[in-house]
Parts: sequence; C-alpha cells; structure tokens
Amino acid sequence: MTTKHRSDVLIIGSGAAGLTCALHLADHFNINLICKGQLKEGATFYAQGGIAAVLDQADSVDSHVADTLRAGADLCNKETVQYTVENSKAAIDWLIQKGVKFSLDENSDDDNDYHLTREGGHSHRRIIHSADATGKAVQTTLSEAILNNKRIKLFENYNAIDLVTTHSLGIIGEPNQCHGAYALNRQSGQVESFEAKFVVLATGGASKVYLYTSNPDISSGDGIAMAWRSGCRVANLEFNQFHPTCLFHSKANSFLITEALRGEGAHLKLPSGERFMPKFDSRAELAPRDIVARAIDHEIKRLGVDCVYLDISHKEDEFIKSHFPTIYKRLLKLNIDITSDPIPVVPAAHYTCGGIVVDKHASTDLAALYAIGEVAFTGLHGANRMASNSLLECLVYAKKAAESIIQQKDISFNDSVDIPSWDESQVSDSDEEVVVSHNWHELRHLMWNYVGIVRTTKRLERAKRRIQLLKQEVKDYYSNVTVTSDLLELRNLITVAELIIECAMRRKESRGLHYTLDYPETTDEQPPTDTILSRVY
Ligand SMILES: Cc1cc2nc3c(=O)[nH]c(=O)nc-3n(C[C@H](O)[C@H](O)[C@H](O)COP(=O)(O)OP(=O)(O)OC[C@H]3O[C@@H](n4cnc5c(N)ncnc54)[C@H](O)[C@@H]3O)c2cc1C
Repeated sequence: MTTKHRSDVLIIGSGAAGLTCALHLADHFNINLICKGQLKEGATFYAQGGIAAVLDQADSVDSHVADTLRAGADLCNKETVQYTVENSKAAIDWLIQKGVKFSLDENSDDDNDYHLTREGGHSHRRIIHSADATGKAVQTTLSEAILNNKRIKLFENYNAIDLVTTHSLGIIGEPNQCHGAYALNRQSGQVESFEAKFVVLATGGASKVYLYTSNPDISSGDGIAMAWRSGCRVANLEFNQFHPTCLFHSKANSFLITEALRGEGAHLKLPSGERFMPKFDSRAELAPRDIVARAIDHEIKRLGVDCVYLDISHKEDEFIKSHFPTIYKRLLKLNIDITSDPIPVVPAAHYTCGGIVVDKHASTDLAALYAIGEVAFTGLHGANRMASNSLLECLVYAKKAAESIIQQKDISFNDSVDIPSWDESQVSDSDEEVVVSHNWHELRHLMWNYVGIVRTTKRLERAKRRIQLLKQEVKDYYSNVTVTSDLLELRNLITVAELIIECAMRRKESRGLHYTLDYPETTDEQPPTDTILSRVY
C-alpha cells in the first residue's frame, strides 16, 4: 500500500527557487517540500560570486537590461529581462529582510552600504555577495526559515519520479492538469504519492549529463525529464554553459577554480609547460569564458590528454595565499601547492540555459504545474547566461509563481483525484546494477565527447544513435526492476541528453554557447528563434 501525502502545494526542490517560493506561499497554504538529498544540497549552496541587481546610484535598470541582452546574443526575451531586472532590488531587499548577511563596503562612511563587485559582461558594479560563498549564505538562511515554518513540511531524501496528471491517470477527454507526483523515499526504498492542488518544479539544472561538471550530484535534469514526459514543451537546451577551469582530480569532483586566478595573471599551459591561449585570442587567458573553454577543449582533444594546467606559481607566495586562501588550502590537502605547482584543470558543464517552457507567471503548459529556477526556460538568458543573473532569476520567478498561485486560491481545480498506489507487481530487485553504472558512464562520456563545447553534425548524429540504444536498454530495465535513485537519474539523464541533441541539431548556426564547426557563423535572422520542442499527445 503506497503511503499518501496531501497538501495545497507540492514544491519539488529546495534550492534558492524552491525555498523562496515556499516562504512566499506559507502564509496562504500548507506546503509539502521534497528534496532529493539533504535540505541544503543543490547548486545554490555552491554559488560563489553573488547576485546581480541594480543597487548602486550610478547603475540603472536600462544598463543591466542592455548587458543581459548583449550577453544573450540577441536571443533573450526582452520582456523577461526587463521584468527580472526591475524586480532585482526588491528580491535583494527580501533576502536581507530574511537575514542574509551580505558583505559590507569597508570604504563607505555608511555602515549599511553593501560591497558590490563586477563580473564579466556587466558594465557596472552590481554583484551583491557574501564574501566568496554567497550561495551558502542564501541557502543557509532560507533553510532556517523553512525549518521554523510550521506550514511547510519538509521531506528530505525523496526522489520525485514522475508527475501525476489527468492523462497519466487515464482520464482522457478532460483538460490535462497536474495532481501531484510519485516520489521514492530513499531511506525506506518505498514509493510514496504526494497529492496537491498546485505543483512547483524547482529541481535545478542538468549539467550532470556531462562527464565534467561544476554542479553537485543532484543536477540530473529530473524536472525537465518529468515535465517532458507529462507533455510540457522544453526549449533552448543546446545552450549549455561550460566553466573553463574545474579541478581535474580523482579525489575531488566539481571543484571550481575561480576566474579571478586568470584575472590575477595565472597562465594556462599544456602538459609540456607551453602556454597556448595567446594563439587563440589576443586577450589570451582573459578572453571571455566560452572562448577559453573552447580553446582548452581543442587542445585536450588535439593532444589526447586528460587535462591542461593553470599556473600561478610565478606570483609571490604571499600574494597567492592571501588572494586565494580557499583554493590554496583545499588544493594543499590534495598535495597540490599552488605556489609552486600548476593546477590540473578541465572545462566543466556549469549551467543549463534552456529548460521547461514557462510563461511570465512561471506557469508551464500543464495546468497547476509551475517551473522556477534553473529548471525553467523564462527567456532571461538567451544564448548565454550573464554571470550572477541565475540566482536573481530564481528569486524573481519564485515570487512570481507564488503570486500566481495565491491569485488562484479560490479557483476550484479538480482536486478530488485519488492517486492510485504505485504498481510494483511486475518488478523485482535488480541483480545487475552494472547496467545502470555502465550506461551512466557511457552516457556522460559520449555527451562530453560528441555534444560538448565544440560540436559538429556528425558528432551529434553519432551521439543520437548511441543514445537510442541506451534508451531502449534502460527502458527495458526500468520496466522490470524496483526503482532506485541511480536508475531514476539515469533515465532522466538519457531523456535530457536526447533533448539537448535534438535542440543542437535543429540550430543551424553558432550562437552564444552553441558552437558547431559545420555552421560557424551566427545567422542574421531577425528576430532569431528559440529552439522549442513539443511532444504532441
Ligand atoms: C559552483 C557554482 C557556482 C555558481 N555561482 C553562481 C553565482 O555566483 N551567481 C549566480 O547567480 N549563479 C551561480 N551559479 C548558478 C546557480 O547557483 C544556480 O543556477 C541556482 O542555484 C539554481 O537554483 P535552483 O533553486 O534552481 O536549483 P538548485 O539549487 O540546484 O536546487 C535543486 C533542488 O532540487 C532538488 N531535486 C532535484 N531533482 C529532484 C528530484 N527528482 N526529486 C526531489 N528533489 C529534487 C535538489 O535536491 C535540490 O534541493 C553557480 C552554480 C554552481 C554549480
């Protein structure tokens, strides 16, 4: 018998987006909030730089809008950008009111002046931050507020499997609507059902589809895959942002080496010790992120090596230790002394610009289903996300979704649906876990090699063929064995990989983060089009 839970709103995901939405809703509704791991585990916790917002007198909404549009290579939705930026100050004020401690400006006479930094693409200082651990400050503060709120019930270690919709219940002839979700209780191994009038997907990005990623393990595109299976459209998944320098080390996954190192003079070198960036761009190591990532990828593939090296050892020891204390200490533990040793690095998948298509209220194509944060496609980022705009998007659209849900408080959706028990009668425990682990590695390798930073039509076709095989194998396996978290993630990663490849094959140009040798130029099509995939039932 499946354990059943009921609430007004079900929120899936406990990052900046999910927590913000829950806190805005809690005065009006009972909320069930589920997350795959611990409450704090998600990309939000690891965000370093900060949050972009118009906070300085000398800055303006117009300037932030113009910078975002430029970074997005003409593909941003202007209305979305305008709305997001106009609401940036209110979003930061809300965080401050919730208790987030942002770094103060030590040079200001006013004790309440916050320090603002500047990042790539921004023409003003507008990044508010909490030292170099902004995400941790936001996640920790909002998590405490959640734990202290009696109307929010938290379910940690629950892996949402699939949405329950009118059509998935076999009720045809009625408008399709979301009624909740099934989720795997990772501790008991049992599948439980969560019924709700409204469901909010806040499951983060899909960067784990690539072999190297700066993202935590939870970023497996589950929300995108679940929404797609339920008939929602997805868009612009070909725009995957790669951070140029992630540590390459068998004992330390996903450790980002900040761009500030290159800003302070670090050189990128081949295993032979030769510098290579000057031959790719006159700005050498200071070229924009995508150019540096592409150059590293090119050299790694050309030489058939595992990584390149980032070397700052020519700077004074004291300078290195005082400017980069976190990196210095962390790498020393791995026996890499950055005052004398070069750091092994690879580019790594960092951010998913596309996602589930939503309207300006964060509503998806499915009634009663919302999507917010990195899982959603609002049109803010266009073909390339500008640094520190993503946490802002989480905050602004989480509030927008909450407002829309509150407005519909009295609309009577059909909430009398009884979700049937999860059917496990046809499955048994797996005696071949190797199917999952092997396919998992194969998928992430092939995405890295064929659908990575530099693409070609041939590579995409090759990847597509192999994914079809993996898909069939995992489909057969899924139908026959008891679900596990790894199996669920693999199934979702395969779906997302397929969608990324489909989007990439449809874009016959290079634009922003999508670069293909077969179409190296950006077309002059006006306005340029989004790649929207729809699954017609
Ligand atoms: C290293 C790093 C540095 C970054 N730095 C910055 C920065 O400085 N500024 C900036 O703006 N952005 C930055 N970003 C990007 C930004 O952190 C993310 O885009 C943002 O935090 C996403 O928030 P989210 O709430 O959408 O998802 P997340 O914070 O990733 O949270 C996702 C949640 O969904 C849950 N979940 C996922 N799947 C399921 C499932 N199947 N069932 C149940 N729960 C599920 C997870 O458990 C988690 O709680 C950075 C990202 C990384 C990785």
